[in-house]
Amino acid sequence: MSDLSRKTIITVATTGAWPKKTDTPHIPITPEEISEEVYACWKAGAAVAHIHVRDENGNAAMDFGNFKKTVELIRAKKDCDIILNLTTSGGIGLSEDDRIRPFYELKPEMASYDSGSMNWQHNSVFENNPAFLEKLAIKMKEVGVKPEIEIFDVGMIYEALYYVKKGALKPPLHFQFCLGAAGGMPATVDNLVFLKNLIPEGSTWSTFGVGGGAQPILFAGLALGGNVRIGMEDNIFYLKGQLATSNVQFVERAKRVIQEFGKEAATPDEAREILGLKK
Ligand code: ZN
Repeated sequence: MSDLSRKTIITVATTGAWPKKTDTPHIPITPEEISEEVYACWKAGAAVAHIHVRDENGNAAMDFGNFKKTVELIRAKKDCDIILNLTTSGGIGLSEDDRIRPFYELKPEMASYDSGSMNWQHNSVFENNPAFLEKLAIKMKEVGVKPEIEIFDVGMIYEALYYVKKGALKPPLHFQFCLGAAGGMPATVDNLVFLKNLIPEGSTWSTFGVGGGAQPILFAGLALGGNVRIGMEDNIFYLKGQLATSNVQFVERAKRVIQEFGKEAATPDEAREILGLKK
């Protein structure tokens, strides 16, 4: 058996809600593009794919048809055992039912769970009200989907712990520290250390920084014993001023960094063991 303490999970977030083809021509947008990109990222060493879809104009959406198609196209690749993690937050102001339906019907192994509301990009409110959070947790439990608890600000940790106390969220918890989004905590190493020291013993965690924060948080996450997320949802530049031409570039770099550090990228099955997912 492999030593799981030597393994680091790479999550790739290929698309997100915001970058458009006008921002980078390399962003995968359609179900076909996303599924091919996820497949290539899996081959390169990603164990988890965090998935968003867009509408026909490339805008943020929780379009069920596009989720279904994307998931089916990935599942049709028989050798690909990547863990699917569907977003429940594919845009601002979307209906609760639209946010729940993809994971509820398509039953990925994981889905994102944003445990709190915040101002978003200085222009809107990213709303996750208490009734919705309780319902979201219960629905995930109902279909056996593991919540990836996204933390943009420190209070969101305590909000998640409240739903543990209420019995809606079930430990062991998995956290994703999302640093550098405007309206949330900046992508600093100090903030990451602060957050990771607050989560309950026995939790697992991963992290990413947005934009210029991506690289420092990748290295800091690794140094602190966490797992890492990379991809164009968070950052479209491979280096300053140089667009990444594929999400695969980010996966390959993360894998190299992990190896140089003295660890290895976890396979999807190793990630399942680390995260306590039933295959
Ligand atoms: Zn996302």
